[in-house]
Amino acid sequence: MSPAQTKSEPPAGLLAELTHRCPLGCPYCSNPLELDARELELGTAAWQRVFSEAAALGVLQVHLSGGEPAARRDLEEIVGHCAKEGLYTNLITSGIGLTKERIAVLAQAGLDHVQLSIQDCEPHSADYIAGYNGAFARKKMVAAWVTQEGLPLTVNAVIHRANISRAGKLVELAVGLGARRVEIAHAQYYGWAIRNRAALMPSVAEAEAAIAEVEALKQKLSGTIVIDHVNPDYYARTPKACMGGWGKRILNVTPSGKALPCHAAETIPGLIFWNVADHSLADIWASSPAFNAFRGVEWMREPCRSCPRREIDFGGCRCQAFALTGDARQADPVCHLSPHHGRVQQIAAELSQAGAAKSAAAYIYRRVKQREPA
Ligand code: SF4
Ligand code: SF4
Repeated sequence: MSPAQTKSEPPAGLLAELTHRCPLGCPYCSNPLELDARELELGTAAWQRVFSEAAALGVLQVHLSGGEPAARRDLEEIVGHCAKEGLYTNLITSGIGLTKERIAVLAQAGLDHVQLSIQDCEPHSADYIAGYNGAFARKKMVAAWVTQEGLPLTVNAVIHRANISRAGKLVELAVGLGARRVEIAHAQYYGWAIRNRAALMPSVAEAEAAIAEVEALKQKLSGTIVIDHVNPDYYARTPKACMGGWGKRILNVTPSGKALPCHAAETIPGLIFWNVADHSLADIWASSPAFNAFRGVEWMREPCRSCPRREIDFGGCRCQAFALTGDARQADPVCHLSPHHGRVQQIAAELSQAGAAKSAAAYIYRRVKQREPA
């Protein structure tokens, strides 16, 4: 498939990072290490224009994300505008900043779905991972308000060394909270997670036990809850189709308006990102250099170029390929066919051994950098 053919398909989803502000400090946060400051955030009217352009382009779903989207006082206005444009709205939230009243107003404005992050099923551990006292108790209240309002709820749980032994219990917690879906995602190592890799990486045995437990629950709880299971990259044989393929299904817009093919794309040097303040979304989707850099299969090198899976996983994650090989055009080294695959196995083995001695106390929490005093 050539880039020209691919770019004519409209994106199905828009991931709108309304703000990078967040009261939590999750050590695996996928936000970039350099977070956009509040003063750089797009205003209400600019976001509304972006959502109107998305609807015109053929986008069906918008994911209102962050940071914590509830940190924006205009969230209700934004949701109302998306609903007016006929877009399905999914709020991806930590729950902090939401009240019962606010959820009712959001539902009335047309919100379709809520995705709530949970850090663990043990309160003390959950608050420690989040870097925020009282977060777990608050999240349970938020889940109750969401379901009382009749909104469908998905629980998101990122799995890593500190909570991997409770993967099954996290699924049970989601059922107890009234979620219709739960996403159990093993930590993916970019953004803040790569900084915290040594403290987050589980052992092979822990990863295998969690995979088996969650897969068994998928069968057992079929009809009760849908379980989406994102497997651990470093212990996989083939990679995931990152973002469903680069520039193929999803557009990501940062708080300051940069349009990215994936939320970690800024980690790849040399890519040119267009801003929604300067270009329409349609123009960005069709012609932005960053979106066309890894579209389709023309950019691929061996072993991907001649691989039968090349239009299934699209060579995996470009950001991970860059992070682990220094070259974003390489096959994702998670793939057993990559000449760099041994490096992934070596890192996983070293970190899972070293990590046994390294406690969660070693977390570097995700925080907005404080300004230097003048
Ligand atoms: S992963 Fe944690 S710190 Fe990052 S935006 Fe979500 S809730 Fe906030
Ligand atoms: S060689 Fe490339 S396309 Fe084939 S499975 Fe590995 S990453 Fe995917």
